[in-house]
Amino acid sequence: MRKCGKRLLSLLLAGALLALGTAVPVHAAAKKLVAITFDDGPGPYTDRLLDGLKQRGVKVTFFMLGSRAEAYPGVVKRAYREGHQIANHSYDHPDLTTLSDSGVKNQIQTTNRILNAACGKGTDYLVRSPYGSETGRTRSLIGAPLIYWSVDPLDWKYRNAETVKNNILQDTFDGAIVLVHDIHSTSVTGALAAIDVLKSRGYELVTVRELFRRRGVSLKKGEDHYSCKPTGTNLSAVAAPTVSNEAEGGRLKVTLSAQPGTKIYYSTDGSDLNQESRVYTQPFYVTTPCTVRAVAAYQMNGSRSGETKVLLATPAAKAPGLRVENGVMTLENRTGGAQVFYTLDGSAADTTSTRYTEPVPLSPGTVISACAGGEGLLDSPQTRGTYSQNGNFFRDIFPSQWYYQDADRAVSAGYLRGVGNDTFAPERNVTRGQLLTLLYRHSGEQVTPLELEQIQTAFTDIPDRAYYTDAVAWGYARGIVRGCDDSSFCPEGTATRQEMSVMFQGYLSYLGAALPDSDGAAGHYRDCGKIAEWALPAVEQMSALGLMQGDDRENFRPRAFSTRGQTAAVLMRLADLLEAQGSGSAPPPELTTE
Ligand code: ZN
Repeated sequence: MRKCGKRLLSLLLAGALLALGTAVPVHAAAKKLVAITFDDGPGPYTDRLLDGLKQRGVKVTFFMLGSRAEAYPGVVKRAYREGHQIANHSYDHPDLTTLSDSGVKNQIQTTNRILNAACGKGTDYLVRSPYGSETGRTRSLIGAPLIYWSVDPLDWKYRNAETVKNNILQDTFDGAIVLVHDIHSTSVTGALAAIDVLKSRGYELVTVRELFRRRGVSLKKGEDHYSCKPTGTNLSAVAAPTVSNEAEGGRLKVTLSAQPGTKIYYSTDGSDLNQESRVYTQPFYVTTPCTVRAVAAYQMNGSRSGETKVLLATPAAKAPGLRVENGVMTLENRTGGAQVFYTLDGSAADTTSTRYTEPVPLSPGTVISACAGGEGLLDSPQTRGTYSQNGNFFRDIFPSQWYYQDADRAVSAGYLRGVGNDTFAPERNVTRGQLLTLLYRHSGEQVTPLELEQIQTAFTDIPDRAYYTDAVAWGYARGIVRGCDDSSFCPEGTATRQEMSVMFQGYLSYLGAALPDSDGAAGHYRDCGKIAEWALPAVEQMSALGLMQGDDRENFRPRAFSTRGQTAAVLMRLADLLEAQGSGSAPPPELTTE
């Protein structure tokens, strides 16, 4: 039996690592979250509270009374604009359970309409019933998620800032909802002081909606919610959108982008953003000068990013087009009134670089940078590419990248192909089917009809004519690879580094390569205990041969996915090794286009 590390210690060590692996949760980015809520306002101290929150960069939730919001419309707008969540605490704080059906509805709906003046029509408001007093009847009449609290410092009773602070700190836990009232000056002072301490203890202050969203918990209409303790799900905060622009036909075309799943709300006339703002669907044109304001949101009220605000004064030129064919570079101007400039030494191009007038022959090993610019235009973004030593043109790999030479060689030899549009996609993951395809191409061998029949009998997930079918059948018949379970091969499954080790070692064995004694060769990896038992001999072999290595922190990362860049490097090391040994000397297959 093989184990990691020095053999005497091996059993103990592996046991310890396994135990650790099960006890420690895998979510490294987990954060302590707390939602502080302010009830019964707005009032005369709310502006001071908003100043303090802004200074500290934190977001909270306001359960407002409709009657108070009517009295302080500017404060409601400000709280909303600054990213806090606005919620409904009834119109004038009655015990809702004592009202008729229409009385309950009236309290909630009147307040919604008043809050809409700041947040926009169509906004969803969470509700907190006054005194937390509810029945099944009021819950269903309200028809919104109902928010209670889990920390109550009794600030309205003590009216002492130090006590408010201490009470909050004493009871707050990860996922708590804290109840404070911003109609008392002492509560505002005490809450701000508590926020400083909570931040120093590693808490992030979020709105109620964000507290639940980031933990993957949905708020349900007509149900009570008191807190949201850690669930193991840790979604990230919403990132602000980016605004980019380029000149097109004398106008300025604006493109907005944000993280998937969010909507982008924007304005171009300087107006504040809310639920009624435009929602971005596609690039649009503006007349300069103008200000673009944009936020990304899962929900505008309480679950949105900070605002991106960009003044667009001068249009930028569009990045020029770049083609390289038969070693000749052609640049294409795409902006009226602009000219194109380039460098061939790796430095960024600007309008003082060489001006492009006609196609330019290149020498192998040239990095191309180009931009467009001109009168009344900002310089365009850079267009870049590499005309490689072997005469390949890539838009996304450069000589400074460690896998560059191997990627260039692997493409030239026909083992790996680009993914279209002159791109190599070095960071893209490699599937099991793709890995075998590389080895199959390298072998120069031909699969037999019998072998094709065998693989389809053995597994239920091998299609007749996928690009990898021949390669998978070939590899399976030669013992280079096994299925991922008894009936599936998982050809489209992403290959991990330990799977890659097994396949490459299987290939070397099949070719009869001379393999050194490698027992214990993975012992120096800090994460050796995470290597699966079925993969350990292969990882040791690959390490002993120098074909695969750990990262700069001496971790092998057995379960990380293999990327195209890494795979090219390992494949070429393997090809060199075989050549040096004089084994597996099949000629590379002919270059084909696919
Ligand atoms: Zn209240």
